[in-house]
Amino acid sequence: MSSKHQHDGKVNGARRGEQLLKKLREDSPEIYYAGERVKDVTTHPAFKNGVQSLAALYDLQWKQPDVMLYDSPASGKKVGRSFMIAKTHDELRSVSKMMKAWADASFGMMGRSPDYLNRAMTAYASGVDFLIQANPKVGKNARTYYEYLRENDLCLTHTLITPQANRAVNTAKQADPYLAARVKEETDAGIVIRGCRMLATLPAADEIMVFPSTLLKNQEEDAPYAFGLALPTNTKGLKFQCREAVDYGHSHYDHPLGSRFEEMDAVVIFDDVFVPWENVFLYRDVKSCNEAYARTGAIVNMSHQVVVKNIAKTEFLLGLTSLMAHTIGIETFQHIQEKIAEIWVNMETMKAFLRAAEADATLDEYGTMRPAWNPLDAARNLYPRLYPRMVEIIQQMGASGLVAMPTEADMNGPLSEEIQKYYQAARADAHERIPLFRLAWDAALSAFGSRQVLYERFFFGDPVRMAGALVANHDRTAYMDRVREFLARAKEEAAAEATKS
Ligand SMILES: Cc1cc2nc3c(=O)[nH]c(=O)nc-3n(C[C@H](O)[C@H](O)[C@H](O)COP(=O)(O)OP(=O)(O)OC[C@H]3O[C@@H](n4cnc5c(N)ncnc54)[C@H](O)[C@@H]3O)c2cc1C
Repeated sequence: MSSKHQHDGKVNGARRGEQLLKKLREDSPEIYYAGERVKDVTTHPAFKNGVQSLAALYDLQWKQPDVMLYDSPASGKKVGRSFMIAKTHDELRSVSKMMKAWADASFGMMGRSPDYLNRAMTAYASGVDFLIQANPKVGKNARTYYEYLRENDLCLTHTLITPQANRAVNTAKQADPYLAARVKEETDAGIVIRGCRMLATLPAADEIMVFPSTLLKNQEEDAPYAFGLALPTNTKGLKFQCREAVDYGHSHYDHPLGSRFEEMDAVVIFDDVFVPWENVFLYRDVKSCNEAYARTGAIVNMSHQVVVKNIAKTEFLLGLTSLMAHTIGIETFQHIQEKIAEIWVNMETMKAFLRAAEADATLDEYGTMRPAWNPLDAARNLYPRLYPRMVEIIQQMGASGLVAMPTEADMNGPLSEEIQKYYQAARADAHERIPLFRLAWDAALSAFGSRQVLYERFFFGDPVRMAGALVANHDRTAYMDRVREFLARAKEEAAAEATKS
């Protein structure tokens, strides 16, 4: 249970991969897959490769400590740089350099590399005054919890969305009041949560943030659903029901991405989960829950990480499509150039957003260097449209080459000589061409590739409602005024003309 972890006073500093794997072996969350409880995610076929990739990120920290780590202001130990509360532009850029190193390790395919939520929790800690103002009893806990995460380099998942039962009515109006996770009981020691949250990517994380995201509308009715808290994933009563894996257990040769970067998504069930007060940050406060992401800067800092990830992902797609074109000799066709150019423009657009967000960063009300929001908001609204289109480009360029593709077993099978001959390409022999096209297939056609498209469309929220929020939150009066002035001038000009004639 979290209180035990949080207060045993141990401080480990930045972890290595083996420490992550050991903890998962010893302290496994209650994860269900294909009708069974998973005993050990480090050996289970649906999880082990993704978990290994996660562990490799922690190893990477110690391979490039100057980039990835910094000295903890509390313990002096080396801790992960994505926990840094940046005070200067240089510090902020050093965080994005660190995040890029992690994103590059999976070509941006691990959306839940731990920096994503480290940035969220770091923002909550930096904006703790907002939480304290909302509720002095629990608000301060966000800071203590953040320090615990940072000093022990723990990895978070999070869950925000209520179950997709009836979207026509709000949370409190569902057929069962305990469909969506809600407060069932309150005691001197803490609260008890019962119900469900729709999704958590990376259920094999150490801890889970349970925060509100969907706008809660009714102060009274929605209050039992309005909370922000965090828990160890192995807390009693917390259950993760997983989807079918997109890692089919094939070799790296056959499924180069799916066999490495499967993060898994799970529905989170709260079976009367006890949460000690020290793990609660927001409580029964609809207004503060609706405002917390924005006011603490969490949304900005998460978006900052997302744009870095988008750059890594787009760079990968640019390299992939360029190499495909080069390999089969299609690079001279104009529509191929147009498509590659489209990806290049997308990449430069994301880089420009990042650069603008960092260059225009300012100290916020808590004295933290906060990236500029407008370019990040633009980026997070744009990429859900760009990514599916770039995957479509891979399909348009690869055509039958994406399915005319033998497996590793075929390479050594009875037709291996024929494969050598008939799978050659303009600038690659069969042994070079086939892995490249298998990679393109895994990015654009496989279950892994399709899930990535769905992820990019939705992981940050419903694009329709994000656009609604953008329109509501970005003042457009100056632009409307300019048009009004033009129309008024035109009217005056027309009147003057009329008087003349
Ligand atoms: C691969 C993947 C990973 C994810 N990982 C996480 C995670 O780790 N943690 C987490 O908390 N969440 C995660 N999510 C959930 C994500 O935040 C949601 O998918 C997103 O917010 C949309 O909500 P929904 O899926 O419930 O869609 P719904 O809200 O059910 O929407 C379904 C459809 O109905 C439309 N619709 C519904 N309500 C309205 C409305 N009021 N107005 C207009 N249109 C409406 C939507 O536009 C959409 O087309 C993940 C999602 C995916 C696909």
